Amino acid sequence: MTQAARLDLDAQTMTINDSSATLLVSNSVDLAHSNTMALSCVADSVVTLTNEAQLDDFMATYAEDVEHQLSLFVLSGGSNVLLPAALNAVVLQPKMRGIHLTAQTDDYVDIEVMAGENWHDLVVHTVNQGWYGLENLALIPGLTGAAPVQNIGAYGVQLEDCLQYVRAYHLPTQTWHHLSAADCQFDYRDSIFKRTPNTWLISRVAFRLHTDPTHILASYGDVQTVAQRYAEQQEREQANPS
Ligand SMILES: Cc1cc2nc3c(=O)[nH]c(=O)nc-3n(C[C@H](O)[C@H](O)[C@H](O)COP(=O)(O)OP(=O)(O)OC[C@H]3O[C@@H](n4cnc5c(N)ncnc54)[C@H](O)[C@@H]3O)c2cc1C
Repeated sequence: MTQAARLDLDAQTMTINDSSATLLVSNSVDLAHSNTMALSCVADSVVTLTNEAQLDDFMATYAEDVEHQLSLFVLSGGSNVLLPAALNAVVLQPKMRGIHLTAQTDDYVDIEVMAGENWHDLVVHTVNQGWYGLENLALIPGLTGAAPVQNIGAYGVQLEDCLQYVRAYHLPTQTWHHLSAADCQFDYRDSIFKRTPNTWLISRVAFRLHTDPTHILASYGDVQTVAQRYAEQQEREQANPS
């Protein structure tokens, strides 16, 4: 019997009642619908986290198993993983939602984004609000909690350019941490999270975004070409209003 199988109680699905919400733990789950390659992968157990307190509750309940080398695996949108046919681990799926405005001035806004928010939807939301900084990172697949892992980047912008801090749970010590951008040790498509897989679970990511659109980096490759075409089209429309 594997360590992870110690979670395998009588039922296929079980719940832990905690103060915040019912935590769902499912056993022997095929993750085919949870990774974009649709690879069949049967995991020992899957824990769906819809708020941070549930992680405390889960870890408290299974502290002994975790100390006895229970394998944990963090899975978000599943766009950047190649899963094996059998995953001998408990899969933690951060699905917390929410975008919170934490500060606002004439020049910038600070937001905290929960890990389960879809990344591209977040970018669209910020642009629609007139908050700039993330726009070059549009259309990158995945969820927000995974974005710091490889310091996602595109068209001359990297996540670290706007990131203020990350709230993350250190799984081996079962403690919450506030990591600044420097603490995250970002590098090109790299971070402390990528170098130590399944050690941290990122629950929220905080950004400072500009209210002045001149901060948009439009001088990079294809972005410059599109921006130029758009400016020319605007000029034509202004010269010849229909
Ligand atoms: C078609 C395509 C285009 C892409 N384009 C780009 C691009 O332009 N730029 C770029 O940088 N990347 C790109 N990527 C890579 C991918 O979008 C990113 O790596 C993205 O952040 C993965 O998000 P996800 O939610 O799918 O993570 P997953 O695939 O679920 O997980 C990826 C890794 O992060 C870990 N992880 C996930 N969530 C957390 C969390 N909350 N806390 C701790 N660890 C976690 C997982 O354990 C795993 O190791 C592309 C991928 C695809 C398939």
